Amino acid sequence: MTGRPLRWPELSIACSWCKAQAGDLCTNQRGTREKRDGTHEQRRAAWVIAHVVCPDCHQPVGAPCRAAIAGLTLTGVHPTRDAEAVRTQPAARTPHVEALGDQLTIPPTE
Ligand SMILES: [Zn+2]
Ligand SMILES: [Zn+2]
Repeated sequence: MTGRPLRWPELSIACSWCKAQAGDLCTNQRGTREKRDGTHEQRRAAWVIAHVVCPDCHQPVGAPCRAAIAGLTLTGVHPTRDAEAVRTQPAARTPHVEALGDQLTIPPTE
């Protein structure tokens, strides 16, 4: 596990879906194959939730997003919250994120 680059910032936390440990790539549900094209939505959402307030539903850090419509269960987080995490978390500025640069406004590092 040591020396493996953190390609996605959410690798810094464990995945609640596939039980991948912090620093390890996500795997399929049986844990037999690494997922190399990203992480599970739940893991990404948990990372976003742990770092920023949602600009959309104003849920505080640590609280999951609330759906605007009562009774509707929101999976993941609002896209604005994800973008906010990318904008404010230095760990999010990975090559993977840079590739999305046209859609995201990332201010220069101070
Ligand atoms: Zn996972
Ligand atoms: Zn939200």
